[in-house]
Amino acid sequence: MDSEMLYLNGEFMPLSEGRIGVEDRGFQLGDGVYEVIKVMNGHLVWLEDHLTRLVRNMGEISLAHALSGHDLQAVLPELVARSEVDHGSVYVQITRGYAPREFVFPHPPHPTVVAYARSKPAPTDEEILAGTTLHPVEDLRWARCDIKTTNLLPAVLAKEEARNAGADEALFVAADGVVREGGSSNVFALLRGVLRTHPLSNRILAGVTRKHVIEFAHREGYGVEERAFTLAEVTTESEPECEVFSASTTKDVTPVVRIGSHTVGNGRPGRVTLALLDVMRREQALLVGLEPPAPLS
Ligand code: PLP
Repeated sequence: MDSEMLYLNGEFMPLSEGRIGVEDRGFQLGDGVYEVIKVMNGHLVWLEDHLTRLVRNMGEISLAHALSGHDLQAVLPELVARSEVDHGSVYVQITRGYAPREFVFPHPPHPTVVAYARSKPAPTDEEILAGTTLHPVEDLRWARCDIKTTNLLPAVLAKEEARNAGADEALFVAADGVVREGGSSNVFALLRGVLRTHPLSNRILAGVTRKHVIEFAHREGYGVEERAFTLAEVTTESEPECEVFSASTTKDVTPVVRIGSHTVGNGRPGRVTLALLDVMRREQALLVGLEPPAPLS
């Protein structure tokens, strides 16, 4: 699209004109962190949460000062406006920048700061209600999954494996059967009437959507526990009332209807899942000045 604009190290330009050196550490070493922020009605949704996580993650990789001179609070809305994005997302990436290739940090670093906005239509109600499918893979990622790093090869391979298996998303499962999270989503299960999701730890990303879902669930009076569940628990026939959903910035709350070859619950989006999605859609609509959509539940 012609209007796609890039913010690169302090300057706005058409996305197609952006150039980054071959020895950028993001390209050669995956030495960077990123964020994806939802855009609705031209507004950035939950921007504060994303910027807080970005700054935290920059600290975790010793890149704390990379954003000095970049006021993302102002830059990102300007980028969305310049790109004329109504619905879609903004991608932000900070790397340790350009330096002759060495593993150890360059001193001083010259970080690369990149952001661009892209349009993507919201899913239709029919698409949401069709649900999504997960493909379990062993979680072979590193032990700092709490950092949203651009080192995404394990997720790339897992998602490709999921696609080849006919599923929409990978489901990272630990060797002991504990469900951690999706390839790029957090995962919740309703088991015996209680909503559960993996607790925050080094094994999962602290999803912004996850945080809000937990808040909504508390507010709506659902039992919620940040307590892991196993793959066996959500794939046994004895749990007909079981619901599973994924939660992420780009896909909101998405009902899961199949995991591997197993049909979840009755194979249709669950009642609690849809109720939480309705709350989320209403909240987000209010935040960005839109009329709340008709409920799905
Ligand atoms: N877990 C992983 C591994 C992710 O990559 C993502 C998002 O990309 C999420 C969870 C969901 O996080 P958020 O809700 O902040 O988009």
